[in-house]
Amino acid sequence: MKKLKITLFVFLVLTVFGIIKVNSAGISTNELDKKVDELLSRMTIEEKIGQMTQITAQAVTKQQGTVDQDWELDEEKLEEAITTYHVGSLLNVYDKALTPEEWQKFIRKIHHITEEKTRLKIPVIYGIDAIHGANYTVGATLFPQSIGMAATWNPELVKKEGEITAIEMRASGIPWNFNPVLGVGVNPLWPRLWETYGEDPYTASIMGISYIKGQEGADNDVSHNKKVASCMKHYLGYSAPLSGKDRTPAWIPDRVLRELFLPPFEAAVKAGSHTLMVNSSEINGIPVHCNYFLLTELLRNELGFEGLIVTDWYDILNLYEREKVASSPKEAVKMAVNAGIDMSMVPFDYSFFEDLLLLVQEGEVSEERIDHAVRRILKLKYELGLFEDPNPSANLVSQIGSEEFTKINLQAARESITLLKNADQVLPLSKNSKVLVTGPNANLLSSLSGGWSITWQGNEEKLYPQEKNTILEAIQNKIGRDKVSYVPGSDFDKIIDIGEAERAAENTDAIIICAGEFPYCETPGNIDDLSLPQAQIDLVHSMIATKKPVIVVLVEGRPRLINKFADDVQGILMAYLPGLEGGNAISDVIFGDFNPCGKLPITYPRYAHSLLNYNHKYSEVTEPNHYNPQFPFGFGLSYTTFEYSEIKLSRKKISKNSSIKVSVLVKNTGQREGREIVHLYISDMVRSVTPPVKELKGFQSVFLKPGESKSVSFEIGVEDLSFIGLDHKRVTERGEFEVSIGELKSKFYY
Ligand code: BGC
Repeated sequence: MKKLKITLFVFLVLTVFGIIKVNSAGISTNELDKKVDELLSRMTIEEKIGQMTQITAQAVTKQQGTVDQDWELDEEKLEEAITTYHVGSLLNVYDKALTPEEWQKFIRKIHHITEEKTRLKIPVIYGIDAIHGANYTVGATLFPQSIGMAATWNPELVKKEGEITAIEMRASGIPWNFNPVLGVGVNPLWPRLWETYGEDPYTASIMGISYIKGQEGADNDVSHNKKVASCMKHYLGYSAPLSGKDRTPAWIPDRVLRELFLPPFEAAVKAGSHTLMVNSSEINGIPVHCNYFLLTELLRNELGFEGLIVTDWYDILNLYEREKVASSPKEAVKMAVNAGIDMSMVPFDYSFFEDLLLLVQEGEVSEERIDHAVRRILKLKYELGLFEDPNPSANLVSQIGSEEFTKINLQAARESITLLKNADQVLPLSKNSKVLVTGPNANLLSSLSGGWSITWQGNEEKLYPQEKNTILEAIQNKIGRDKVSYVPGSDFDKIIDIGEAERAAENTDAIIICAGEFPYCETPGNIDDLSLPQAQIDLVHSMIATKKPVIVVLVEGRPRLINKFADDVQGILMAYLPGLEGGNAISDVIFGDFNPCGKLPITYPRYAHSLLNYNHKYSEVTEPNHYNPQFPFGFGLSYTTFEYSEIKLSRKKISKNSSIKVSVLVKNTGQREGREIVHLYISDMVRSVTPPVKELKGFQSVFLKPGESKSVSFEIGVEDLSFIGLDHKRVTERGEFEVSIGELKSKFYY
């Protein structure tokens, strides 16, 4: 008894001091490892390989879910998947969101089969793309897409999004989310730009960490029933296809890969994200799914990632079918597994299972490699608490789409909206104004949310919750229907009734044109021309000709070129893809109920062939070249004005173990209270690898009443001055640096 008490005491002390980690179910890391090893030792090779197999819901279905028809599960196929092939994981929907009740029934069915009909009763892990909220659950809170969340520069809101999404996922019985996207969005043509946090690696890192902490909790204890496992994706370099088309080759020198694309993943590994998904495409001629260096040497050995690596959709088979680096599907499996993947998103059949079994029997893939992979899968399942209770808890369902979550969502949408032009203070409009609302995005919910919304492409307008407001409806609600005329004017790429819009404009005080893009996701979103389609340009031109004030609201996932009219309209609002509260948020900004504070997390280009990012090299802006975008990275106006003064550095010289405090005084010099996002940049004046003109190293927000001033300060450490040096290692070189905040600059030395 005494011995037990002492053991318990020692255990408690070790736990309190964090030497032994215990999850919410009271299981310590050591115990967990033991359980995993014990289970692994009892598994047959078929059971192990089954764990590494992930199939889509589409593979176990009788009938697809469409706008008019419900999805139907094929129980026999599901049972075959679990009992014959021992599949470790399922994913996705076919093809529309399920209600929480449907999810719960489906998930319970899966677990019932594992419980009743399998030898070892290893729970199946369900994974889903909950990209901006639990977008495959009917009634879920759909936030602004990540590009908009980045425009808020508010990591707390991003964390909240992660938290709410986790709750709504768990309410549906799903513990694994294929998000956040940590690619740095350097190519504005890329149809997945809006899934990123923009073009800056520092911002992507900060927002990525916040999202992961929201999803997994501060201590990454995902056994908690309101937390899920996150999945950082798509490792590595997926966001930089040279052509701008999805899933096409990237050419990225090793140094640039480490400098620009690796940092968000490095940060996310440190933040404890449990899983990682692989880049579907190739870098420098090597598909990432078979790149041993990236998957094992860099990710495992160098970054120390210990979680699960899952492939992207069909991407092992793609090594054979698309990339042509494998001479058969079986060779593709060998290449990918030996390169380091743990789980294959096959996703339609059992070819991976069958091929891998043969490869192990033939000695082409070692059982040790299989054990490594399976150990990680089992560990994740234990960590998620699936062995204790894999079933969804019914009591979270009432929280889905709750009033509290909707309020936070509205705030996120409001803070994301970025005022890009406000000539003669045309905005905010008076609520007494009579307005014409026109344009293809005026009366759609689908285009506010974009892809990954209820369906993969997000374009089934009929499936959206009709109680939510489009931009038109939100404006009608705010100022009264009698003051609002509506004429579509043009569709996305087809003129409808521009003449009608011109006539309607006659009796109004201002025209609000809701322009932009129709929902799309992944490869179907590829474009050949970054310009806004001609029909919309024609609509804007005809509205300008009416001589009424014109405000253009851009609802779009990437910056479609607007140089043909930007100088001639009075107001421009960038709304990105603001989600289900987007209509309300836009109307709040237009009529002054919210003072906009969003700033661009990307460069808004002016010309199709000048697509420089903000952190370009000096040679790219040496005469006659310019960084002359339509709107620069970090730009965004407010209904008030802010003035920066008194930049101060606590010291002029920084050494290895010291830091410099940089402060600046920000004053609200206008008539309204408002929030200002303050950006701090650093420039290395001379270094051995050509320096970028500047790099973002900090951002903060400050809320000020009219006339009020506050000091905002940042801490710069030596690591903020580092870069990937000649030998591909991170270094900081001695010399002169410049810190800049707004127009203020100051030099310091290392
Ligand atoms: C996408 C991933 C996604 C996966 C599963 C792929 O096509 O590239 O981002 O997680 O499908 O739906």
